[in-house]
Amino acid sequence: MAASVSGEHRMLIDGELVEAASGATYANVNPATEEEIGQVADAGVGDMERAVAAARRAFDETDWANDRELRKRCLRQLQEGLAKEREALRPQIVAEVGAPVTLTYAIQQDACIDDMEWDIECIDRIDWEHDLPEHEFFGMRSARRVLREPVGVVGAITPWNFPFMLNLSKIVPALAAGNTVILKPAPDTPWSATYIGRVAAEYTDIPAGVLNVVTAGDAAVVGEVLSGDERVDMISFTGSTATGKRIMARGAESLKRVFLELGGKSANIILDDADLEAQCRSGAMVCMHGGQGCAITTRMLLPRSRYDEGVELLKAAFEGWKYGDPNDPENLQGPLINARQRERVLGYIEKGKTEGARLVVGGGRPAHLDKGYYVEPTLFVDVDPDSTIAQEEIFGPVLAVIPYDTDDDAVRIANNSRYGLSGAVNGGDLDRAYAIAKRLRTGTVSVNNGQWFGPDSPFGGYKESGLGREHGMPGFEEYLETKTVGLPPS
Ligand code: ADP
Repeated sequence: MAASVSGEHRMLIDGELVEAASGATYANVNPATEEEIGQVADAGVGDMERAVAAARRAFDETDWANDRELRKRCLRQLQEGLAKEREALRPQIVAEVGAPVTLTYAIQQDACIDDMEWDIECIDRIDWEHDLPEHEFFGMRSARRVLREPVGVVGAITPWNFPFMLNLSKIVPALAAGNTVILKPAPDTPWSATYIGRVAAEYTDIPAGVLNVVTAGDAAVVGEVLSGDERVDMISFTGSTATGKRIMARGAESLKRVFLELGGKSANIILDDADLEAQCRSGAMVCMHGGQGCAITTRMLLPRSRYDEGVELLKAAFEGWKYGDPNDPENLQGPLINARQRERVLGYIEKGKTEGARLVVGGGRPAHLDKGYYVEPTLFVDVDPDSTIAQEEIFGPVLAVIPYDTDDDAVRIANNSRYGLSGAVNGGDLDRAYAIAKRLRTGTVSVNNGQWFGPDSPFGGYKESGLGREHGMPGFEEYLETKTVGLPPS
């Protein structure tokens, strides 16, 4: 076990690192040990309202929205500060998220600090204003200019699975585009947000109120304040589809712009000419980070002609998968985030059994780990594509294997989902695999193990997996308005 860690317990509101007005705090719990690792400010409605007022004032009364050089300088200062203290952050992320330490050298921490560069460079990449040719309308000739402007005050609401990455994925493009931000992290992972608040306060010239970080134990209450407040122009949300719908409905009262990155139930189609050995040997990778990732391919579609062979290979892969203490660099699966999530996942496993799927590996709490919210890597085969475990997002280390007959069958099963976030197609013939990938109704697809993720690649969902895109130019433009100005002809 790692040595004890501590994180920033104060929020950032209106340029100050502050306690909650009530003085209340709540416990941050390590999901691997079930022990408290420290306290953090527990905001009430008043604290959130103060943060919203500060963000509104900063947008309306400072030069942040117009001064692109200031934004570039401040965001580079933030990036440098985050990078400078990253070795102090690493154990905090492992302790509060239960994230395997190996992942902190990539997507959970280091990669996202480096990836800030792309959004900062977008400040120079955006066409902030351009002229259209003169045009006649009602007998009048006019010149026209199209301007890009920030949306205004952005509420960023983030989940606990990749908290530091998702916090940065929202606040960096939002700030770079000239918005002001209130970041509300998930209650389980407050330090991944307060760290950013402290670094912003200590290392940067970001004006007071431009970036605010508000933590709360009952985050739905302050989250509702944020999504309902008419001073907020946009909510950028990552989390469950149910909460996304709630935020959209609440935001509708003031017609807020909403960006939603929601759940998934992605399918990995293994074609009959695939390298089955390689595909199935790596099949247990879906258990990485306990399966707590919205874009993980949690359904595997195996051709019936090679089904038994595939199931045997998967069984071996799941039985040999190493998991446990997230501080051990060999473990790519740690605990789930909390007891509620563990019980939810175990509930789905029971449901899978009662609905007739065949449990091949796992299915319970690991006998060798008496502390921590762990669930065994779990392999279900013979899964009915309409059953609960093939349709609902489990958010645990559970793979549902489904047999299919023809390529058309595979596409139909893959698209038989209310979600449309991601997917994969793997086969021996790249053209055939690519043609199938194009038929999937999802926002991203991996073909023959090609990785789609990157700061410049748009990510998001079709159907109930979301609205809009994060990352890439479409992701940056989520945070921009468009204004057209009519001018007299020259
Ligand atoms: P989970 O149920 O796994 O915690 P959620 O989608 O509910 O996932 O949570 C994602 C984020 O949304 C968290 O920051 C959470 O505090 C926040 N949240 C939950 N309910 C609401 C709500 N009604 N309004 C605004 N934010 C909310």
